[in-house]
Amino acid sequence: MSITTDSFLAALNGIDGVHVYERSIDTAEGTACAIVRLGLQKRLAVMGDCADNFSGDQKGAVKLCPLSVENAQALQVLFPYAAPKSHAGHPFTMGLGDRLGLATPGHVRAIAGYGVYPVLAQQSIRELTLTGRTFADVIAAAAFGVFQEGYRDGYGADGDHLKTKEEIRYAIESGCTMITLDCSEHIDIHAAAYSDAEVEAAYGALPADVREHYEQAYLGRPLPVVGALTVAELRRIVLVFYRAVQHAESCYRYIDQIKTRDVDFELSIDETRTITSPAEHFIVAQELAAQGVRPVSVAPHFSGEFEKGIEYSGNLNDFARDFVAHQEIADHFGYKLSVHSGSDKFSVFSTVGRVTGGRVHVKTAGTNWLEAMRVVAEHDPALYRRAHKFALEHRVEAEKYYHVSTDPKEIPNVDLQNDAYLPEYLLLPASRQTLHIAYGLLLNEKWFADAFFPFMAAHEEEYYAGLVRHIGRHLLYLTAKH
Ligand code: ZN
Repeated sequence: MSITTDSFLAALNGIDGVHVYERSIDTAEGTACAIVRLGLQKRLAVMGDCADNFSGDQKGAVKLCPLSVENAQALQVLFPYAAPKSHAGHPFTMGLGDRLGLATPGHVRAIAGYGVYPVLAQQSIRELTLTGRTFADVIAAAAFGVFQEGYRDGYGADGDHLKTKEEIRYAIESGCTMITLDCSEHIDIHAAAYSDAEVEAAYGALPADVREHYEQAYLGRPLPVVGALTVAELRRIVLVFYRAVQHAESCYRYIDQIKTRDVDFELSIDETRTITSPAEHFIVAQELAAQGVRPVSVAPHFSGEFEKGIEYSGNLNDFARDFVAHQEIADHFGYKLSVHSGSDKFSVFSTVGRVTGGRVHVKTAGTNWLEAMRVVAEHDPALYRRAHKFALEHRVEAEKYYHVSTDPKEIPNVDLQNDAYLPEYLLLPASRQTLHIAYGLLLNEKWFADAFFPFMAAHEEEYYAGLVRHIGRHLLYLTAKH
């Protein structure tokens, strides 16, 4: 059967009360697909030869299919641009995590014109657990989002902060095209605080071949970028990092064994309590390079505080000095730096963009949830007030999952504020963080989810516009030429 856009559109418009997302309409293999909305329910409309590959309800000539994982996979077979792909070779890449599964159309609009390859599906195991989603759910939401917008320039899917081979397998089998390995559990942060005598004792207890290897490789001559190390410096670095290096190498080989498509490997050492020194970064990188491990990006723990959903705090000049050294190491080994918790760090973006020459990966996630809460504050004051109070009451519980430092006592009492003031809470650091870390607890509350998701369906254009503005501000500072 031959099918044209016009005949498909005519069939769609014959359905009572239908809204068609016209940018989504596309045809392949005698089959036409589009995203449509009936009331507040979105559906994938399918007509033609491959309709049997999708499950849904026949409505005249058109099949209306729920936005399920299975239907997303069928869609990706017909339209390969809806499937995630490796971003290797793209200089500027950005992780745009979407915990709600609603943000992709806004993200796609926000990146237009900035030359950035987006990683639209990006979740950690912690985020999946807190939202009750799977990697397949996250990728399906991104696939339907890019299809809705008619976006065909490619996107990645990041299994973020994975710690074990089981998690890596789960992410890769679900379709992730990027693995961010979090080595924090194999980094000995206690050793970082040892006295010199404790370093001596612990180092002496390491296997002789480990000690010999590091001493031969790194002592007695200056190293690129970081210069010569003292014996004491090297021993401390070995104690802190050598298990993490072994773990990273073993996970890298494992990915190589099980992958069925290209996978971008990122090494993250950022979720430790201590700042990564250039010497530590260099030795970890050199050890991995010597073993044939080729990361696409590495995330050190940069100086200063990169807390969730608020501005950078710390000395910007110190940050810039360290960042230059980390960039020199990244250049030496041929990978990109990755900046985690990049949401809302506007004061560091100019440095990040300039020092990296636009060859960098930046991750954002939680700020997109806050943009959703901004729409709630603007359009549903009663729901906002209830969510706000809930987040405040559960702040201590939410702090189990995220490190934040703002003081909730600084938040103005919401009962004393009129409705017009409510969006201001999305500008105050203390209320931003309180709302930010409460997302999992809120989404698991039936009263909240039952009101929030229909509200967001009715206000999606306001949400997309907010994302274009807010993510656009990130991109503007990251890419500004002067
Ligand atoms: Zn991180």
